Amino acid sequence: MAANWYPVIDAAKCSQCNSCVDFCVHGVFEPGPEVVNPSACVEFCRGCSKICPSEAISYFGDN
Ligand code: SF4
Ligand code: SF4
Repeated sequence: MAANWYPVIDAAKCSQCNSCVDFCVHGVFEPGPEVVNPSACVEFCRGCSKICPSEAISYFGDN
């Protein structure tokens, strides 16, 4: 659980395919997509960014 690491979606790049919503098993996203539960994100996980076809996901906490 990490409140200091969670996904941030670039709305200008996002195609709203919702692949990230389907991929994450931790309930971080809701369809839209929206990041509704950032504290459930696993610190340093980059899974949703890797599967995003639009390179629309970056991470708060990533320097
Ligand atoms: S996987 Fe990427 S393009 Fe698809 S909804 Fe998520 S952020 Fe948007
Ligand atoms: S980084 Fe991992 S845990 Fe966090 S939202 Fe993406 S897939 Fe889920």
